[in-house]
Amino acid sequence: MTRIVLVGYRGSGKTTVGALLAGALGVPFYDTDALIEERAGMPIPAIFENSGEEGFRRLERSVIASLAGQEGVISTGGGAITDPDTVALLRRGGPVVFLSAPADVLHSRIRGSARPALTSLPPDDEIRTVLAARMPAYIGASDCCIDTRAISPREVCRRVRSAVTGGTLSETDRARGLAFLEKTPLPPEEVKGLKNFLDKQTRADMRLCAVIGNPCLHSKSPALFNHLFSRSGLTYWYTRIQWPSIGPVMNCARALDIKGLSVTIPFKSAVMPFLSDIEPHAAAIGAVNTVVRCGDRAYGHNTDWLGVREPLAGMQPCPAVVLGAGGAAAAAVYALMDLGMDVTVLARTPDAAAALAQRFGAGSGPLTAFDRIDPDLVINATPVGMGDGKSVLEEHQLRPGMTVFDLVYTPPETPLLRFARRHGCRCIGGRQMFVAQASAQFRLFTGIRADQDLIREVI
Ligand code: NAP
Repeated sequence: MTRIVLVGYRGSGKTTVGALLAGALGVPFYDTDALIEERAGMPIPAIFENSGEEGFRRLERSVIASLAGQEGVISTGGGAITDPDTVALLRRGGPVVFLSAPADVLHSRIRGSARPALTSLPPDDEIRTVLAARMPAYIGASDCCIDTRAISPREVCRRVRSAVTGGTLSETDRARGLAFLEKTPLPPEEVKGLKNFLDKQTRADMRLCAVIGNPCLHSKSPALFNHLFSRSGLTYWYTRIQWPSIGPVMNCARALDIKGLSVTIPFKSAVMPFLSDIEPHAAAIGAVNTVVRCGDRAYGHNTDWLGVREPLAGMQPCPAVVLGAGGAAAAAVYALMDLGMDVTVLARTPDAAAALAQRFGAGSGPLTAFDRIDPDLVINATPVGMGDGKSVLEEHQLRPGMTVFDLVYTPPETPLLRFARRHGCRCIGGRQMFVAQASAQFRLFTGIRADQDLIREVI
């Protein structure tokens, strides 16, 4: 069965290329915008006017559901990829290809279009702003990216066919990437498994993802993501790359055209110079834990702060203490500032606490300042409690009514959380952060929403 889905901003050439591609492959062509207009019995501007964007997206989802798993070339509306349920439907049965172009090229292609504006901005600003906001969704939802800026629709069509039927790897790059993996401590049978996977990589929708760090061979992420990929019907494979320095790891990611990277210690800051784009939250935190690659570009994100923020959502602003001043502490401080908390960073190295606090306008001090602050919320962002049987705070320092969030997730109940439970505190374990950040990461890798209960089950 031949099924190819084209996504991209208005003006990216989806309809022209889609029709050419369908003709060349001898399969039906579906333009979802045309099907929506047919079903609604009115043009798209009128649907927006009558039912708003939400009504339009509902209709779009139901039209795309009727095409799920169907043979053909499907060209979608520019915003279809913003809905993760629609993306799950689009991904059923074949590759999704992102046709990209810079904002100025898109503007010149769609100047004078009768389609309704999405914002109150002038058209060129609107394209720049909406395109930037949607970029993670386009990249997540697609299996490969074709830059359409300087090539004819016929050439785009040829490149889509070549990527879809021949994969995205050259023989030389593949051999180079595998040779590097053989030098890493990855067990030889796993390198062999990867080689087999890549040998079969004759389709654009067979992609690799990986956790990168040193150490990272113990990571739970491969088991988790491979389970999520398989449950979502994706032919993606998630592996592990452990190496002392980041440069060779990023060369390997390029050589094997790895789509998504989970970045762990000690690379969260070191990876940043290797990226073409860093989203603003990650830039403000100064750390990247997620990289998504698309063609020659590599986009850096931070989902750690979302993992801290989500379990605390709805909590009223209050005095809060973050213990530790490393990478996880920076994500925690950022999340707490976002929730309007009055934050103090306490660390055994007070200079490190002061440097982190200063970046976000928070207070700082040594660990001994804890009792003076008497916070309502405490976050442990040190590794203390991770299998050492220790707690960074004494039991008597906790009081009923405090919320205690330990970012350490092995064991599920650390000594600090055991004290907190005994003192009637609200307890949040590191697994809640892990689940929330992993779910955000899965969405960045695939455009699909991961079921958080399923993640909990697997870990
Ligand atoms: P990091 O960058 O190495 O920072 C660790 C911080 O803890 C530093 O401020 C360090 O102080 C301090 N520290 C280390 N040992 C200490 C001790 N014995 N007593 C007091 N302070 C100590 O590490 P990280 O990436 O921020 O990770 C911190 C913890 O968060 C780890 O346990 C990690 O597992 C957890 N984490 C959990 C998740 C999740 O999803 N749940 C995600 C990310 C991280 P010095 O500078 O003085 O050494």
